[in-house]
Amino acid sequence: MTATCVYRKVAQDGYGADWKTDCGYEIRMEAPIDVGFGFAPKPTDDGRKFCGFCGKPIELKEKL
Ligand SMILES: [Zn+2]
Repeated sequence: MTATCVYRKVAQDGYGADWKTDCGYEIRMEAPIDVGFGFAPKPTDDGRKFCGFCGKPIELKEKL
């Protein structure tokens, strides 16, 4: 049991990236890189983001 939900980048193109979450979902995020990580998990006061599926803090593994 981990304390975080790891999001692994599985594919990327010019418009966005596909991510696989530790809790078993695949999601696609489309956002210009200069906007950053614009996706359902909202930043909390300490800047962390939480998985919209399992509620754990998100840990990003961006290396393909
Ligand atoms: Zn999760």
